[in-house]
Amino acid sequence: MKRKRMNRTMIQEIWDSNTIEEIHRPEKNIFRWTKGSGSEFLLERYVALDLETTGLSPDWDDIIEIGLIKVEGGRVVDSLHSLVRPEKKLPLKIKELTGIDEEMLAGAPRFEQLEESVLSFVEGENILGHCIGFDMGFLERALGKPLPNSRYDTLELARTLMPTASSHSLPDLCARLGFAASFHRAMDDARAVIFLYDKLAEYLRQLDGNVLAYLPAFLERAGSPWSEVISGLSGVSRGLNVFEQHFSPGGEEGREFYRRSGVKGYVDPEEVRNILSGAGMLAGGMPSFETRHGQIQMSVEVARTFNEERFLLVEAGTGTGKSLAYLVPALLWAAGGGPRVVIATKTINLQDQLWYRDIPMVKECLGIDVKTALAKGRSNYLCMRKWAASLSEGRWTGPEALFLARILVWANETSSGDKIEVNLGFQEEEMWINICADSYSCMGSGCRYYPGRCFVARAKREAESSGVIVTNHALLFSDIKTGNMVLPAFGPLVIDEAHHLEDAATEQLGKHVSRGDMRRWLNRSGRLVSKSWETAPPSDQDIWMNCLVGVREETGRLRSTADQFFAAAGSFVLRGKGSAEGDHHSYRIRSEDISGDGSGLPWGELSNLIFRTRTVLEGLRKITELLSGWAAEDESWSEKAKDYVQAVSLGEEMLDCLEFVYGYSDQSFVYWISVSGQGEWRHVSLNASPVRVGELLYDRLFSCAGPVVMTSATLTTNGSFDFFAERVGIDRVAAIKVAKSTIESPFEYEKQALLCLVNSLPLQGPEAGRKYLLETGAALEELVMELGGRTLVLFTSHRVLREVYGYLKSSLEEKGISVLGHNIDGNRSRLVEDFIRLKKSVLMGTASFWEGIDIPGESLSSVIMVKLPFPSPSAPVIEARIEDLNALGRSSFGDYYLPMAVIRFKQGFGRLIRTERDRGVVVVLDRRLAEKGYGRKFLGSLPLKSHFRGDLSAVRNKISEWLAGVAGNLNQ
Ligand code: SF4
Repeated sequence: MKRKRMNRTMIQEIWDSNTIEEIHRPEKNIFRWTKGSGSEFLLERYVALDLETTGLSPDWDDIIEIGLIKVEGGRVVDSLHSLVRPEKKLPLKIKELTGIDEEMLAGAPRFEQLEESVLSFVEGENILGHCIGFDMGFLERALGKPLPNSRYDTLELARTLMPTASSHSLPDLCARLGFAASFHRAMDDARAVIFLYDKLAEYLRQLDGNVLAYLPAFLERAGSPWSEVISGLSGVSRGLNVFEQHFSPGGEEGREFYRRSGVKGYVDPEEVRNILSGAGMLAGGMPSFETRHGQIQMSVEVARTFNEERFLLVEAGTGTGKSLAYLVPALLWAAGGGPRVVIATKTINLQDQLWYRDIPMVKECLGIDVKTALAKGRSNYLCMRKWAASLSEGRWTGPEALFLARILVWANETSSGDKIEVNLGFQEEEMWINICADSYSCMGSGCRYYPGRCFVARAKREAESSGVIVTNHALLFSDIKTGNMVLPAFGPLVIDEAHHLEDAATEQLGKHVSRGDMRRWLNRSGRLVSKSWETAPPSDQDIWMNCLVGVREETGRLRSTADQFFAAAGSFVLRGKGSAEGDHHSYRIRSEDISGDGSGLPWGELSNLIFRTRTVLEGLRKITELLSGWAAEDESWSEKAKDYVQAVSLGEEMLDCLEFVYGYSDQSFVYWISVSGQGEWRHVSLNASPVRVGELLYDRLFSCAGPVVMTSATLTTNGSFDFFAERVGIDRVAAIKVAKSTIESPFEYEKQALLCLVNSLPLQGPEAGRKYLLETGAALEELVMELGGRTLVLFTSHRVLREVYGYLKSSLEEKGISVLGHNIDGNRSRLVEDFIRLKKSVLMGTASFWEGIDIPGESLSSVIMVKLPFPSPSAPVIEARIEDLNALGRSSFGDYYLPMAVIRFKQGFGRLIRTERDRGVVVVLDRRLAEKGYGRKFLGSLPLKSHFRGDLSAVRNKISEWLAGVAGNLNQ
């Protein structure tokens, strides 16, 4: 096809400024790197490129806008901009994101008409962009040929130079750097790229000289063109040993230990009451503080629990402000010299809220100076010794080199060494394992970094000298598992998000080994052996070499045996042998699988795997022995020995799990195989979990604990704590020691919310498969239209979610409502951001969306539960617990299965009203809620006592009427 050359007059020249200074520096004279003044431009000439497209795939999607800005010597010299008429339909999400609509595109040229102009504009130029691979992919696809231009990615440079930025998206980086502008239009984004690039150049200049000297080597290894550019900067020389110069071990830091032995604590309940009252100190320090009677009640109960060394189970309805209700007494207790308090949460979100917001605020308002610490597992911290060893290795892969470049910059500026500061990607998390601290390889006080530069030692000292420690459930269980080796001794324990305690204990007190664990261990062992190859031993040369050769060969054999076993186990489960939810499959191993013939379980492969794991471990132990022997003569061998100790310990943990499952001898455990993901990312693991964690928790924690407060917004079912108490072993504690309290939510649910039960839809099941999906999809469409979007739809099955999503996506989007599906349009946090940003949207989620979603205001004005959230009865742990209760002659449905669903249901309901100003509707499509006797248990557990029930059309009318009433009240 003959392509017309685009006339310059057809190109929309919207660039109305001439210099970079004018874009983002009104004062015009800040461009620091001016040639001839002793500094320089990183790139003398370049073209900043940005495209807007109909989607993410260059193969399926089209360009809808192109923006190019040419810069030379720091000045804008030319620009090219045009909208582009696509072949493909413009998705609603893109229209909302960019503001570009069909009308704007109707008169725009096709890409073919722009092709020659674009080519001549970029000819011979360096191309700069944010995530440049994306834009170049589209451009080259549209041009039908690769472009020879050098391309530079500001995303790659920003990730390296700004490792602690929480997001590296262009808008977020620009906002962080003070560039207030519009985004998601091609020219706006191209301008932003120029701004960002300029700022990154400043960052680069401010880097420590030694770090700057080391950086090009990493970037070169990663194949990044920035390597050349940075090397070319004046004053940057290569070959300095940055590590030794910059990260040399420091001196001993001051130590201050928290005094607790022999001290009995006390906190005055009346003082706590006063502080939280309207005239109290919190009100004085917090302008938005409101007196909440439930909060005062809870804080007084917590104070009494501490003083009397008792147990308190407290359900605090949404809006109680429970974190302040336990923080105030905890901090006062610690300020008075009482034994250290540990607060454990399940989620990072709550941990962050306590650590970054609530604790500093309470301390400031109360004017108390209690030392507090955030306790995390060792693996969260950079191990300086391993980091030094990684730097000297030099055999990094491209992704590893990029990762190490980021860590290089970060390690130079961090004072905590906590990986949370670095925004690590999924692959980087895997690499982090090679440089993070671990208990096996740590040399403790024998390490040269220990006195002043060890982040773990520093964190430990912080915890030991603190009166209040914030941690998570997992670390609490690590402490229990290791015989209290993880946390310093403590007195009162507060467990928030306690409804997760049984799951956390099941996970942490069980055993698991996966294909990924095995691979990581083998990779690490392989690297150690390769490194040892170059080591000249002081004696036993032949034995040393034989050991290395032996381990190398056996490692290779074990790798293929492990692959065979996990592949066979995965195929066995995927042949439909077990239960499935979405792409997560599991198979419970039963005794007949082990003893009987022909079950198909790859038990022979497992036996081989155990044999080969033992052989590799034997070889690693021999090497460790040799190194330890030499270390007795010469200290320098002990670091190498420690690395092998870690490899041996990790291998022993895995072997222990493999043998435990193979032996199948402990009947208090349930054994199973789980499979998730696909292809290369398929995750297969072998698991064993305790069936009854209540006994374990009582024996290992509660029987010897000091005061314990357990709280959550959802601990009771139908007003009773019995289910929770039994599941976590509190029922074993003498009743006289345990207080139970329910704090009503301060929200006026009867006014703020409407609950509707639809009783006309078919039930999900094999016999109503297609009919169920069609009717559910149609009902959702009607309800969402009535509600005007802003709806969270909660599913219990990912398969159903996908089917309904497919049914609704295009029809709702045609009506102007965006549809966002979990794991279809992005991960949870991305979807929540989009949901808030898009004014009319529907968010569809499964398990993790039933709790933890906190969207106050109009963005979330309705919640629809498609099905009652009963757990899958064939999931191995659930099934084993049901059988366990049945064997005891109890009702597994009434005592276990139903209460679990009720707690989940309460969590789902709790997504709706987050503040006293929120108004909204909850609709349940599962007719069993209206028809079954157990429906009363669900309804009786909610803070809203009234509801409306009817068929779909009656419910629609009711919603319409209720919304009109709300609108009327708001207008009054
Ligand atoms: S003391 Fe342990 S954690 Fe700290 S740097 Fe040394 S080996 Fe790493």
